Amino acid sequence: MRGQRVAIVGGGLAGLAAAEALSRFPFEVHVFEAKRSLGGRAGAFREPDRPSLIDRCQHVAMGCCTNFLGLCRRLDLKSSFRRDTKLHFIDGEGKIHPFASSSWLPAPLHLAGAFQRQHYLSKEDHQRIRNALWEMAPPAAAQKYAGWKMRDWLLDKQQSETAISRFWEIVLVSALGAPLSEVSFTAARKVFVDGFLRNRQAHQVYVPTSPLQDIFDVQAAQRLGEKGVHFHRQSPVRQVAYFNSRFNVRYGHGEEGTFENFIAAIPWHQSPKIFSPILKNLMPKLNNVDEIMSSPISSVHLWLDRPLTKLPHAVLLDRTSQWVFNHGSRQLRDTTCYYYQVVISASQALAGMKHEDLARQVLAELVNAFGAEHAPYMLDQQVVTEKQAVFAATPEIESLRPNQGTILPGLALAGDWTKTGWPSTMEGAVRSGYLAAEAILRKYGHHEPVGDPDLPVAWISQLLWGLGKEDTP
Ligand SMILES: Cc1cc2nc3c(=O)[nH]c(=O)nc-3n(C[C@H](O)[C@H](O)[C@H](O)COP(=O)(O)OP(=O)(O)OC[C@H]3O[C@@H](n4cnc5c(N)ncnc54)[C@H](O)[C@@H]3O)c2cc1C
Repeated sequence: MRGQRVAIVGGGLAGLAAAEALSRFPFEVHVFEAKRSLGGRAGAFREPDRPSLIDRCQHVAMGCCTNFLGLCRRLDLKSSFRRDTKLHFIDGEGKIHPFASSSWLPAPLHLAGAFQRQHYLSKEDHQRIRNALWEMAPPAAAQKYAGWKMRDWLLDKQQSETAISRFWEIVLVSALGAPLSEVSFTAARKVFVDGFLRNRQAHQVYVPTSPLQDIFDVQAAQRLGEKGVHFHRQSPVRQVAYFNSRFNVRYGHGEEGTFENFIAAIPWHQSPKIFSPILKNLMPKLNNVDEIMSSPISSVHLWLDRPLTKLPHAVLLDRTSQWVFNHGSRQLRDTTCYYYQVVISASQALAGMKHEDLARQVLAELVNAFGAEHAPYMLDQQVVTEKQAVFAATPEIESLRPNQGTILPGLALAGDWTKTGWPSTMEGAVRSGYLAAEAILRKYGHHEPVGDPDLPVAWISQLLWGLGKEDTP
């Protein structure tokens, strides 16, 4: 490996993970990023008249995201995340329902009490949800209902519209980036099994405590730089061709470089554009990326003149707003303000709405949810919609996702959309980067995994449903 060069295109989490894994070996690693900053979709931006960076959209990870957390540990980023063990659901009347696991019961019993306390669901709904979870848990269910859409499955299991909107949708739409009428049963099952049924730590939420740009563009880049990774920012790769067992990479404004190995870690809708026709022929799935359905996420940033709540975050039921994150007080120009970020996944229906109208509607929902006596004054607002935020986890998606390794040794694909078994998430991106690094390492006879194992399966979950090794994709 010494003296062998690897070009990684894309400085998102997939590219950073591949760079981190390969930096453990004596390669010369180069990361090419089209934009000025690293982090990709998990990035932030700076508005000219605001002193601090703003995340494009609030990102959170869960305890089951072992590879993402592993990357953060290796790059010494874990102190930039806070681990929250308690969630708060707020119903249409503004009643708060805390959701926290038992401090001692093993999975899957650890959440039984928390679930029972969600009084916005009727006793019948509780019973039917329990039955449905019981039926979806065994690995055999993944085969039995392969190809099913989640809403069809839920109706088949007698779930009421209230249970669908207040329980299943709340969890799944933000995790899978699409309405339940489009997402697959298999992807939905994975969310519940990995997030709630396998291990008592899996459902814990990791919330960034610094702007994402500070975490990935500054800190991660510095640690990787210390490990010898070379970054080329504002260097879009225009074309990659293959001559004499080497990859010829054209980037920036006419610059070129030659590499023994190449990883494309860019989104599905951009990947086919950079490869020469010969290389593209080696990766037939690149011809079908147009069939991957993208889904938008909107984030509404509000700067208010008074605080609305002390809760760090909350899940809002029966409203357009889905998650609200409380970022505390900030300085806005000369005044102290209170900064809230509201996330709306699968936000297609909001496409025609004016930003000011959406911000006003979200503020009204927050005032109602938190029961504010005096409505706060909106000092400023910003609505950011990423149209191709995530891919929708439809039943067709798995057949469209390519493996990271290709038939040409030294050539690999990465990105959340490649085959990881995970939805479009930071965990999926990091896993893909590690799998792409493993594909490069195989060329040099190295066959050990570079990523992290899943959380262990609790003994009761093994006993009840046979969850375990055979369940991992
Ligand atoms: C609004 C929003 C909210 C989200 N919320 C969450 C969340 O809460 N939790 C979660 O886990 N996930 C969340 N996600 C998903 C998560 O951000 C992505 O799955 C993940 O960041 C994808 O990483 P990636 O490296 O695969 O791709 P990207 O982040 O898209 O990185 C690809 C990089 O490649 C660069 N690039 C593209 N073309 C070229 C080229 N020709 N040359 C050089 N560089 C190029 C791009 O500029 C980009 O930096 C969210 C996504 C969005 C958009």
